Amino acid sequence: MVGMYHNPQSARGAGENPFASFGQMGLAAAMPPETRARPELARADSTRARGCSGPAQFGLSRALPMIFARWLVCSAVALAGLAPVKAWDYETHRLICQLALSCLPTNFPAFIRAPAAQERIAFLGGEPDRWRNVPDLTLRHFNGPDHYFDTELAILCGFSPDTLPMFRYDFVVQLERARATQPDKFPPVNEAKNADRTQQLAGFLPWAITEQFGKVKSGFAYLKAYEEAGTAEEVSNAQQNIIYAMGVLAHYVGDATQPLHTTVHYNGWVGPNPRGYTTNTSFHRWIDGEYFLKVGMPDPALLRTRLRPARVLADPGRNGPPDVIFREVVKFVFAQHEQVEPLYRLEKAGKLTGEGALGREGKAMLEGQLVRAAQFLADLWYTAHATAPVDTYLRTQLQRRAAAGAAAVPAPK
Ligand SMILES: [Zn+2]
Repeated sequence: MVGMYHNPQSARGAGENPFASFGQMGLAAAMPPETRARPELARADSTRARGCSGPAQFGLSRALPMIFARWLVCSAVALAGLAPVKAWDYETHRLICQLALSCLPTNFPAFIRAPAAQERIAFLGGEPDRWRNVPDLTLRHFNGPDHYFDTELAILCGFSPDTLPMFRYDFVVQLERARATQPDKFPPVNEAKNADRTQQLAGFLPWAITEQFGKVKSGFAYLKAYEEAGTAEEVSNAQQNIIYAMGVLAHYVGDATQPLHTTVHYNGWVGPNPRGYTTNTSFHRWIDGEYFLKVGMPDPALLRTRLRPARVLADPGRNGPPDVIFREVVKFVFAQHEQVEPLYRLEKAGKLTGEGALGREGKAMLEGQLVRAAQFLADLWYTAHATAPVDTYLRTQLQRRAAAGAAAVPAPK
């Protein structure tokens, strides 16, 4: 059943990793070796032999470029025969939505509590992954990198959660500047496998979350104006838009809590591997959903007990720092990145095989990630509503329309 949700067209190709060591204990035994990639769509774009070991002004450490350079050389070899990977399966994204909805306080708009609205948000939790089902390159270029963030590359460029640029294109410019200054330290781009031009990128997940948060907030801003002076149809349309935006936001927040979406080690360890972590290129999809399939989905009722009511994350007001939400998001993504190595350690210890008591021990860690996703998502939704200003331009236009007695005139926005 879950297989039907596996979308073959991921932003992340899973390479025949040259470091892979199939046949070892643990995952190698538990993971099915086959790929679910549709051959015509499988691609290499995100083996992503790339980095940003840039100029001195980025404050690079000496060690990381060396480590990375070794990985790059090897990964360049790995650009053939790739199997795409993605984030949590649909069922997991859906569960995150349902958990988040369950901790919205009663002062959150009531239309969200309608069963149809809740079902729609849960469905939309899988929406950005559905956008992978067509080969259109512009969509792949836009959509793919929104699902992940290579934290190591940002660190390599000297960025911290406090200094990562708030604007996605500023980040792109700085990456490119570093590449231009020291091109030899950057991973080679395999143009034959880079039709969608994503190999040069490091992922945009923090920006995808923050930008989508802005859309939810915008929806509440115009809903407030329509509620004051709009028609019932306009209010309903605004509500439907908010439901859509909330559902899409849920996807990206969910992706952030799959640790493998925050790392260059997204599908098996790459490069120097002194601790001997798995290099199995089925690891990503195993964590996405196959492990839960084997050990059983988490119990929603139990996870719900670990959630508190949603609260405002931050409110810059009109004059506060403009990046407060972005900083909260980046902090969150970096915190999920800290779970990458613990996840690999669990695998090494045999706690993610799904076999026996030991093989089920890893479930608790993944359940914890779902709780983190649901809590942060609920907080973002709640913050969007609580901090949304009334759309005063729209309100004025609606008031003029009412004063003119021209209710039949289309709304100005
Ligand atoms: Zn995704």
